[in-house]
Amino acid sequence: MHDDPLSTPLQFLKGVGPRKAADLSRAGLTTLEDLLYRLPFRYEDRSRMQPIASLRPGMRAAVLAEVKTANLVRTRRRGFVVFHAVMADESGAIRCTWMNQAFLRDILVPGLRVVIFGDVKLDSSGLHFLNPEYEVADDLGGEEEHVVPGLRTGRLVPFYEKTGSVTPNMQRRLVRAAVDGLPDPLPDPLPESTRERLALMARREAMVLAHFPDAGATVEQLNAFRTPAQWRLIFEEFFLFQIGHAWRRRSAGAEVKPFVPLVNDRVRESAARVLPFKLTPGQKVALREIVEDMRRSAPMHRLLQGDVGAGKTIVALLAAVVAMENGLQVAFMAPTEILAAQHYANIARLLATSRFRVDLLTGSTPAAGRLAVETGVSRGTTHLVVGTHALVQEGVTFRKLGFVVIDEQHRFGVAQRAALRAKGLCPDVLLMTATPIPRTLALTEYSELDVSKIPDLPPGRKPIQTRVVAESRREDVYRLVRHELDAGRQAYIIYPLVEESEKVDLKSATEMAEHLQAEVFPGHRVALMHGRMKQDAKDQVMRDFAAGRVQILVSTTVVEVGVDVPNASVMVIEHAERFGLSQLHQLRGRVGRGEWASHCILLYQAPWTDDARERLKALAETQDGFVIAERDLELRGPGDFFGTRQSGLPRLRTGDLVRDRDIMEAAHREARLVADTGTLTPALQRYVDHRWQAQFGLIEVG
Ligand code: ADP
Ligand code: MG
Repeated sequence: MHDDPLSTPLQFLKGVGPRKAADLSRAGLTTLEDLLYRLPFRYEDRSRMQPIASLRPGMRAAVLAEVKTANLVRTRRRGFVVFHAVMADESGAIRCTWMNQAFLRDILVPGLRVVIFGDVKLDSSGLHFLNPEYEVADDLGGEEEHVVPGLRTGRLVPFYEKTGSVTPNMQRRLVRAAVDGLPDPLPDPLPESTRERLALMARREAMVLAHFPDAGATVEQLNAFRTPAQWRLIFEEFFLFQIGHAWRRRSAGAEVKPFVPLVNDRVRESAARVLPFKLTPGQKVALREIVEDMRRSAPMHRLLQGDVGAGKTIVALLAAVVAMENGLQVAFMAPTEILAAQHYANIARLLATSRFRVDLLTGSTPAAGRLAVETGVSRGTTHLVVGTHALVQEGVTFRKLGFVVIDEQHRFGVAQRAALRAKGLCPDVLLMTATPIPRTLALTEYSELDVSKIPDLPPGRKPIQTRVVAESRREDVYRLVRHELDAGRQAYIIYPLVEESEKVDLKSATEMAEHLQAEVFPGHRVALMHGRMKQDAKDQVMRDFAAGRVQILVSTTVVEVGVDVPNASVMVIEHAERFGLSQLHQLRGRVGRGEWASHCILLYQAPWTDDARERLKALAETQDGFVIAERDLELRGPGDFFGTRQSGLPRLRTGDLVRDRDIMEAAHREARLVADTGTLTPALQRYVDHRWQAQFGLIEVG
């Protein structure tokens, strides 16, 4: 858009020569747009001028005064100078001192009117300002005595993040010059209908007021980023982000599946035969939404969210039966071999009496078995294949892949998801996650997806008692474990495995397992599992634990996701202070899966950080994964919430995903509304086609 006035390079701004332009550009500021969309991160109220007589020590105050006397004093330390001035208004006088600013002698000359702003201090000779900010009142252009809007005093003053070698005042001056030079009205990327519906402030006015607020805004509103001007600019950014997603979603919706499943009585009966229990109301709603999508001609892109143990697998399987009854193949991808094996065992059992053939394909499937599975998949004699990322490898081709389920999808890279989808014929895709995702992040990361949520748990689940226990009370914990084991239950004891100290941790997990076996629980069987073990050794341990041959499983976090042993009723987490909140929640979800009351013990070792204390407290207080996810987002911020795998988080310049959740919500709604009308304004269309991806730093999702 070269007609865009904001694309003007900063060097055309008054006071910016080639040298300063280069400085600015090194700091990431090249155009007016770069400069203006870097909003102040904080504001200070320097608008009220105080009579000097009313000043008290400790105040942060602004006064409008006249310079009475001024002198530069050399001190005994060589080269060290102090500039003293006395300022007076009608109510009184006050001293000001500046260290090492000899040039002030030429500026603050007696008789001049200035605004002084700073902290009022008290010393042996009375009140004074030390190194205050000043602004020459005659430069301010104001006539009134009491409110003189300048740039850094006498008003609500903006503060900017430091930008390279650009000083705060220079930035204020640049921004002032930039907003003053903006055409009126300023072209607006937001559609007129949106602006009217939400009664948004005009773009130019918002720009001016976000940088140089007028008296209509309070400093509290400003620092909460909720003045109409700030709201509008943040909304603008979020809307542009969301419109890109909404438009792509609409375009994807125009794709047509070659085979659209039918649902008739035969299909329903087939699904009912597979179902071992009654679905919860939440499962029913989710299943209905999924099947409705499947019956549409556009491919499904849906995220199924449900807390750990909510029963997502059966919902996905029932949908898979619908696909298979319609002659389509199903791929079911899990992030780990253990999880894939468990899904496979489960699904094979449930489908045992059906006519559908189920296979498992993982990295450790031996070559011969692998060939057999690949043949079955390519000929179509295998109806459902469960696997790890091995499913997306080259040798695997499907005859008629129509439905893809991706479990614990946040563990997969975008590329793997896309690769699996590409093996199908515009397949329906169902993503599942048991890491409940805070609503704003869902709106960001999964903006193009439709979301189903299972809010309830299957009946009969007993709440898990969670306690935070100091290492020094380890004996109490063993007593509890023994009590459970004696009642026939099983226990997990989890060790963190932090990469940098992998060896040490592995050693402590190994020693712990030996110690527990030999000295603490000699009458029970203890087994050890960790990520460095061979796959078949891990599988063997898991099988022994699931069958009850092992009562205590000492493990690193490899059991974190999805493992289902209903008889286990105790989860002890060693060094709980080292785990993230969502991970702790996942681990805790390994118990409480049967009919027994369960316990989760968070053992911590001092010293722990305040953050760690907060995390453990939050976990003990609630079992609602969505509440925990929101807390986790607040504690860790959006970048860390998913870890490094995520690529869908946008690069933002005005908005904040935690602070501005409500605005993201509004932008999401509005963008879908606009996209669903089927046309964009020419400017928006150009934006979505050419600039959207680059602006938000997004990787192509494919
Ligand atoms: P998640 O949502 O964490 O993947 P799963 O699908 O593994 O949960 O289900 C957890 C456990 O609950 C499984 O043992 C499953 O068989 C059981 N389950 C799921 N739905 C129901 C239900 N409606 N009634 C009884 N048990 C159920
Ligand atoms: Mg699961």
